[in-house]
Amino acid sequence: MGENIDLKLMDEEGRRIDGRKFDELRPIKIEANVLKRADGSAYLEWGGNKILAAVYGPREAHPRHLQDPTKARVQCRYNMAAFSVMDRKRPGPDRRSVEISKILSEALEYVIFTEQFPRTTIDIFIEILQAEAGTRCSGLTAASVALADAGIPMRDLIVSCAFGKIAGKVVLDLRKEEDNFGEADVPLAIVPRTEEIVLLQMDGHLTTNEFQEGLSMAMKACKNIYGLQREALRKRYSTVIDKNEEKEKKEEKKEKEEVVQ
Ligand code: UDP
Repeated sequence: MGENIDLKLMDEEGRRIDGRKFDELRPIKIEANVLKRADGSAYLEWGGNKILAAVYGPREAHPRHLQDPTKARVQCRYNMAAFSVMDRKRPGPDRRSVEISKILSEALEYVIFTEQFPRTTIDIFIEILQAEAGTRCSGLTAASVALADAGIPMRDLIVSCAFGKIAGKVVLDLRKEEDNFGEADVPLAIVPRTEEIVLLQMDGHLTTNEFQEGLSMAMKACKNIYGLQREALRKRYSTVIDKNEEKEKKEEKKEKEEVVQ
């Protein structure tokens, strides 16, 4: 953050290195139910980020001393693939991934009705296949779609997005160079329906006014991303209905044929 290099993050017309305006998101694509053997899953592309989220559970917690008789344990594991970044990432957990896993677990636990599933665990795996900054936000956004796909009862989805500051200006959704050489990065996550904030971190410096400006910009963006999440889920369930209808029609046809014979 704020390293001194000669990289122009914004031109005279206020365009960023990828041509975006200050309040523009990178392109986002979400697909629900992409893994056969998980209870719920989602695949998300957000700019150069490519992320898979898989959900298992609620299932009996092991070892048993980890069971909570009052609620389910929500365990999220954020993992970056060795090939996801430019300089090979050493496989396995490190300080950063342990921290991210913890804050994402806490954010997700807030929306899940954990008290409905005592003694169980809900495991959420976030695999970063390709990273280009903002992976905790993208991972969280994908994970909440995967939880909904698993049919786990939740208050609402969680949407996450970052804002920050580059070239003295508050901007939305930093990409890699902006994250590395900008002045601030503020990932945040909200429950869209209530606008409660479930994750907020800040790297760098902002004035109160800049913070407020970024916050309202990110809130607005989160509402748009929420639309994409819901659309992905709607598509997933409408496909199931279509398939069921097809199956019913085939069975009806078969029955008719049998009657004719
Ligand atoms: N990054 C990397 N190697 C690492 C960790 C991160 O190259 O071991 C890159 C990666 O592109 C990541 C970005 O740095 O998305 C920003 O990382 P940060 O810790 O700010 O988290 P993020 O913005 O991804 O949530």
